[in-house]
Amino acid sequence: MITRNPCIANIKSGYLFPEIARRRREFAAAHPETGDAESRIISLGVGNTTEPILPHIDKGLVEGARRLGAAKTYSGYSDEGLLELREKISAVFYRGQPGADEVFISDGAKCDIGRLQLLFGAHTQVAVQDPSYPVYVDGSVLIGAAGGWQYEGYRGLNYLPCTGENGYFPDLSKLPANSLFYFCSPNNPTGATASREQLAALVKAAREKGALIIFDAAYGEYIRDPALPKSIFDIDGARDCAIEVNSFSKSAGFTGVRLGWTVVPKELKYAGGESVNADWNRVCGTIFNGASNIAQAGGLAALDEAGLKEIRELTDFYLGNARLIRETLHQLGISCVGGDNSPYIWAHFPGRDSWEVFSEILEKCRVVTTPGSGFGPAGESFIRFSAFGHRADVEEACGRIARM
Ligand code: PLP
Repeated sequence: MITRNPCIANIKSGYLFPEIARRRREFAAAHPETGDAESRIISLGVGNTTEPILPHIDKGLVEGARRLGAAKTYSGYSDEGLLELREKISAVFYRGQPGADEVFISDGAKCDIGRLQLLFGAHTQVAVQDPSYPVYVDGSVLIGAAGGWQYEGYRGLNYLPCTGENGYFPDLSKLPANSLFYFCSPNNPTGATASREQLAALVKAAREKGALIIFDAAYGEYIRDPALPKSIFDIDGARDCAIEVNSFSKSAGFTGVRLGWTVVPKELKYAGGESVNADWNRVCGTIFNGASNIAQAGGLAALDEAGLKEIRELTDFYLGNARLIRETLHQLGISCVGGDNSPYIWAHFPGRDSWEVFSEILEKCRVVTTPGSGFGPAGESFIRFSAFGHRADVEEACGRIARM
């Protein structure tokens, strides 16, 4: 019989959300909802968007679909993406600096994070912020590059703690030479957003150590403080050492539409001098046939004047939820970060086990959260609250938590 890819058995952090769902089901079975508002289980646990796509962007999607139904406007494969969208992304997010041939349109940041691993292969040292978005770890494990921290005997995965003590920014002296470093700002799960000085230090360290940064800017549109950079390419020198992945998911509500992009500068070279940009073009052409034309039409609508206003409106809405959650936690004297330039709030319960706090909040408030330990060892004693939810649900959840 055919044998299984042994790396699949090593995926451990991918159990986090199924485990949360299992515990929620078990709790709901033991304490069923009765039909009144108080008994409803509310989730502040996941990063999935909840609000409808706003009208102008929605119209862009609808018109994109209509064009496929007419001979004159029909289009097929668009490979690395519609030129117009690539140029628009460059103009809107990067002041026109990357050329269109450095902007690759994708079906989402997560998909590109998975595919990017193929450029570097199984023997690459991988470094992640600890805690981190689980896909960086799991994607690495899948191609055999590294093992989850729970998996004994695996080398190649380096966790750089980001805690209250270091302002949620890692000690860069621990960044291994010639490694691939996943860095997410605004961060999922901590909600911390790196300053310009911190990102400049990150770029400097990467250049000195021959490391390559994969900068995940999926939450960039939540940044409200104008002093905070939205892109790694706001930092001088980043074009030599960084790739940026980004997405319309959390800004335009495209989690189900699927549209993102990756910027791979032409300056980026491997140790042997080959072009990373050329290889990425090849990988995309080999195992990816481009994002949906309909999604791309929606993306174009999202980036014109009316669309950008809607992005602001939608992200303001979720930031409003985040504010409510933060205020509730502050009133209880619980220390937390995030929620001001990001939709996540990272709350500290010193000395407590994350799963134990998760269970307490579920049992006392009927609110589902995410235990911080699921994002890495430094997440122990933390809980992630997500601001993705309907306002009435967030208000109800906050009311229950305040009475906890
Ligand atoms: N990057 C981060 C940090 C995320 O939290 C998420 C989704 O939760 C993604 C990427 C996935 O984005 P996409 O929907 O574009 O695949």
